Amino acid sequence: MALSYPCGIRNDHNLSKQMKIFNSIAETQIYLKEQQKIGKTIGFVPTMGALHAGHISLIEASKQENNLTVCSIFVNPTQFNNPEDLKKYPRTLEKDSEMLQSVDCDVVFAPSAEEMYPSLPQMKFDFGSLETVMEGKFRPGHFNGVGIVVSKLFHIVKPDRAYFGLKDLQQVAVIRRMVSDLSFDLEIIPCATLREADGLAMSSRNMRLSAEARALAPNIYKALQFAKDKLQGGASAKETQNAVASFFSTIPAIEPEYFEIADFDTLEPIAEARTQGKTAVCIAAFLGGVRLIDNMVF
Ligand code: AMP
Repeated sequence: MALSYPCGIRNDHNLSKQMKIFNSIAETQIYLKEQQKIGKTIGFVPTMGALHAGHISLIEASKQENNLTVCSIFVNPTQFNNPEDLKKYPRTLEKDSEMLQSVDCDVVFAPSAEEMYPSLPQMKFDFGSLETVMEGKFRPGHFNGVGIVVSKLFHIVKPDRAYFGLKDLQQVAVIRRMVSDLSFDLEIIPCATLREADGLAMSSRNMRLSAEARALAPNIYKALQFAKDKLQGGASAKETQNAVASFFSTIPAIEPEYFEIADFDTLEPIAEARTQGKTAVCIAAFLGGVRLIDNMVF
């Protein structure tokens, strides 16, 4: 459900600026057009909410480079291939708004599904080889949904720069390709993954982990580091994958869906670590019914 405030404005922080919260596309566009007319540059951080410090690092990056920062909060149904996952996705709009206000975000765009999709989009994105691996392979239709929602959001917000986390490495590759193929007039800024002290990548899904699962979750990061060390020590991708599989066989609560060693730019599987260019080690794993992804690039 969308949160509405009178006039779309909250004023509960005396010292910080008033953050605007819009639920409607038209209001957002009217406000942002005015701001652009007076010469303000716009940085944009698209999110699905349940915000954590990783999201906030994107907001901070945007604030450093733009006059105005817009954060969207929208749990996009078209990118979920699993209805149960969509249903269980955490929704914490009130807390998110407070967090954004506390870091002086300028505008929140939090539309309802009906506002974004008055009718279901008929067009489809095909990202070719970028989506036949990893997330694209295991979540059919996911990147089509991402392409649709991100291009709609880009058209609504018309940002100068858009900030995306490298935690979703394949998403960054897909969005960059879309921006280049369709000549979107904006710059994509990839941002580093923020981690908890024990190495677990921050994620909105972490709040769904039981205490037992949370205690085991840093093993996902350990596996990435272990793989990086092996590859840098000269092991082949196959040998590394086998070693990682034996590592996880000792922790039955973690069920890896894939563990891929890929070229950073093309995301195609590679036989050994790149000596020129970057190597990406990527994982998706289930832990107590929660699907987590992470990666390491070197
Ligand atoms: P989400 O709300 O999960 O769709 O994420 C919104 C944006 O935040 C995406 O660009 C993510 O890649 C980014 N993000 C999510 N987790 C992290 C993290 N731990 N560190 C940095 N960025 C992140």
